[in-house]
Amino acid sequence: MNTMETIHVLTHVDENGSALTKASLEAVTAGVVLARQISATLTIGILGPASMEAANSAAGAITATGARLLAVNGEAFVQPRYATDAAACETLCRAAQASIVLAPGSSRFVRVAAGVAHRLGGLIDTHITSLSSNDAVEATRWFYRQRVEATISRDARPWFLLLDAGTHAAFAGESAAAQVEEIVVTLPATRTTVEGLRSPMRDAQTIRPDAKLLFVAGAGWTKKQPDGQIHVAEAGELILAFLRCSGASLGSSKSLADQKSEGEQSVLPFLTHMNQIGQTGATPRHAKGLSTCCHGEEPHVVGWRFIGERRAISLDPNCGWTRGKADVVYIADAFEVMTQVNALLEARSS
Ligand SMILES: Cc1cc2nc3c(=O)[nH]c(=O)nc-3n(C[C@H](O)[C@H](O)[C@H](O)COP(=O)(O)OP(=O)(O)OC[C@H]3O[C@@H](n4cnc5c(N)ncnc54)[C@H](O)[C@@H]3O)c2cc1C
Repeated sequence: MNTMETIHVLTHVDENGSALTKASLEAVTAGVVLARQISATLTIGILGPASMEAANSAAGAITATGARLLAVNGEAFVQPRYATDAAACETLCRAAQASIVLAPGSSRFVRVAAGVAHRLGGLIDTHITSLSSNDAVEATRWFYRQRVEATISRDARPWFLLLDAGTHAAFAGESAAAQVEEIVVTLPATRTTVEGLRSPMRDAQTIRPDAKLLFVAGAGWTKKQPDGQIHVAEAGELILAFLRCSGASLGSSKSLADQKSEGEQSVLPFLTHMNQIGQTGATPRHAKGLSTCCHGEEPHVVGWRFIGERRAISLDPNCGWTRGKADVVYIADAFEVMTQVNALLEARSS
């Protein structure tokens, strides 16, 4: 049987400081469900608002959880920084007397969570995809490039669990006026001054984990086309126009991403290995995926494991996609198809 657990969900506000991030709201859902399953006490800690007014406003979205709400606020905690974030998380977890700590696997928490677990004498597991309770609390995660799924349970407490984004629905309760308790943190010595944020241009931000659609570009975009010519510039324009109109996230096959580093021919400048999907790339989670000019070989398709509905456009009727790896395959020229699709999307938005 479970001993009485105290679940603490660590959350943080978005860049504007006014709302909890989507990944934080997903962690809240995980906390609410687990607390219900094991009859545990639930507390939620908020990191990052500039003032308690901002904390109360950000907490409006999670008042319906009925959880005790705690916040660390103030200028020192607005910007992510190891020393201040670790001190804030440690203080929140101590105030909540947490035995299980759930947090989104955001860059902000990934950076500090292991250190905080160590300070509290606890243990941490990362990339958690689901939580359940049998006799004990159990967490699952994937190993070996998403091929083996493990179920983990531990006696050590506090037990920190960082949740992968997209594995839980974002908490969406009725928003109401919140009463958040302020938790005061003794400011640690800091050496890092955050001077500001430098973000890539909007068009350059092609990896969008929250997008409904993953658009994959394969090496075919840079190959000789039926007219005997390559059309890389046109390919780049078509792909970027589609991303702009659809808000899709951009993935790439390894063959296409590799071309840039080898410098063999002019390729799409907005693609890097960060876009690569597959065995030696990423395994993102999106509701739908559209593959273009890609052969659909197994080392690539293994990265599509968590894509809900799969479609592909390929000239090759014998490509991997047609062999049971996609739900729908269009045997067609992706240059022609995407030109038409973009025209339809542009007409819809104007
Ligand atoms: C150990 C190992 C790890 C690997 N890891 C990965 C990985 O993580 N990710 C990955 O992607 N690959 C990986 N690979 C490589 C993988 O096996 C394939 O070589 C690669 O995915 C092929 O990329 P591609 O389909 O884009 O290119 P190609 O195989 O060159 O296919 C291009 C396709 O585009 C089509 N095409 C051309 N023009 C058009 C057009 N106008 N319209 C429509 N279709 C068109 C062609 O018919 C062809 O099917 C790995 C391989 C190994 C050995």
